[in-house]
Amino acid sequence: MSTKDKDQEGWQRVRQLLRVEVGEDVFSSWFARMDLDTVDGETVRMSVPTRFLKSWINSHYTERVLACWRAELPAVRRIELVVRTAVLRNATIKAKVAEPVEAPREIKSGAERGDTRGAMLPAQAAHEALGGSPLDPRLTFDTFVVGRSNTLAHAAGKQVALARRGEAVMFNPVYIHAGVGLGKTHLLQSIAWAGNGVSDRRVLYLTAEKFMYGFVAALKAQTALAFKEALRGIDVLVIDDLQFLQGKSTQVEFCHTLNALIDAGRQVVIAADRPPGDLESLDDRVRSRLAGGLVVEIGALEEELRLEILKSRVASARTHHSGFDVPQGVLAFIAKSVTHNGRDLDGALNRLLAHNKLTGHPVTMDMAERAVRDLIRPQEPKRVKIEDIQRVVARQYNVSRADLLSSRRTANVVRPRQIAMYLAKTLTLRSLPEIGRRFGGRDHTTVLHAVRKIEGLVDNDNMLAEEIELLKRLLQE
Ligand code: ADP
Ligand code: MG
Repeated sequence: MSTKDKDQEGWQRVRQLLRVEVGEDVFSSWFARMDLDTVDGETVRMSVPTRFLKSWINSHYTERVLACWRAELPAVRRIELVVRTAVLRNATIKAKVAEPVEAPREIKSGAERGDTRGAMLPAQAAHEALGGSPLDPRLTFDTFVVGRSNTLAHAAGKQVALARRGEAVMFNPVYIHAGVGLGKTHLLQSIAWAGNGVSDRRVLYLTAEKFMYGFVAALKAQTALAFKEALRGIDVLVIDDLQFLQGKSTQVEFCHTLNALIDAGRQVVIAADRPPGDLESLDDRVRSRLAGGLVVEIGALEEELRLEILKSRVASARTHHSGFDVPQGVLAFIAKSVTHNGRDLDGALNRLLAHNKLTGHPVTMDMAERAVRDLIRPQEPKRVKIEDIQRVVARQYNVSRADLLSSRRTANVVRPRQIAMYLAKTLTLRSLPEIGRRFGGRDHTTVLHAVRKIEGLVDNDNMLAEEIELLKRLLQE
């Protein structure tokens, strides 16, 4: 038997060991398509079909893989992971077909894998040609913690990620909205990872900014057609931070792209910091198209979920920093007091880790209190929606929401309408024209007039001032 064959045999044992160590699921997700290229003294060179797989395995499993190799060949010191090129890929498949008797199972899966790899390459090319945004290897479904506030969004994301090519699309687009730091990007990138790493679908993840610049750049280079072609070659388009999409021509193009993809049965997933109806810079047609699929909100992370996120973060930090230990009480304290978003939770833990690493002192409640003091801010006001304002005001003054939006000018409708517009201006970040639009298509000067009117009245009218305070509290609780 040649050295090469021996190496391949050894690799099969290493694979077996790895499979046992990480479990079937993880193995088939990440290692099923890993091939051995060469064993060269201390260095083992292996290949995977995508860059995604490479960076994921590098950041999560190098030590595991190395340990498995050393169990087989103690001389091994280094693992090198490369991305297979098309040529290499065909050569590998051929080599396998040439030895049908020895490893029939491998041949079959090898051929299957060949198909998948064929599909992966254009996906990557498209990802690059279209300026696909970089994916963070930490943001996967494995690390996404599910709780009350994100159950639905998570389920929708999973459904998209698990769908297979050619299957009918259930909801299109899937539109996820939430305030900052509540896990939108994490969820979207999980979908992108799941698609490009595991299933056979081509997923393109873009921030709205990348979409704009990619498109503008393509126009300038006069390759708009190629850009569109490339876009059409993908199965799932994921756009993050849609609220940043600006500019008339970008919007027109976004609208075309959206329609083309949806009509062709491709999945579109979008995240933004507000619901579709509140995306002021988009025109009505785009807004209604966005609202026509599944719209899901991720709510504020509840304390229980915050605690679970912290626990999972500590667990993963411990794989690199084995001495890092955070007492339950400290975790509970952080989960209770750092209430804003996932980013602050990360920040809090990073500080504890830094203290612990730099001073060598164990993490105590005392240290934690000092370290995270400035992350404990008063509760941020809730995001208030214009519909809620209209609903609450209508109920309070015993008129209908339709009355508020109508052109009726009777006193019992005019005042509540002005109050509602005033509240919309003070409790939301919406502009005057946007508020006008949401109040039955009124002019921004009408809104401005209403706001000034109510401001003037509350200065002198205590009853009204109290009423408005009450309404504000009702809306913000
Ligand atoms: P957004 O895009 O909504 O502003 P991100 O997805 O960037 O928020 O999340 C901010 C941070 O909080 C990230 O580090 C993310 O991993 C973490 N995070 C948010 N939600 C979750 C969750 N459900 N499980 C695990 N981590 C989360
Ligand atoms: Mg984000």
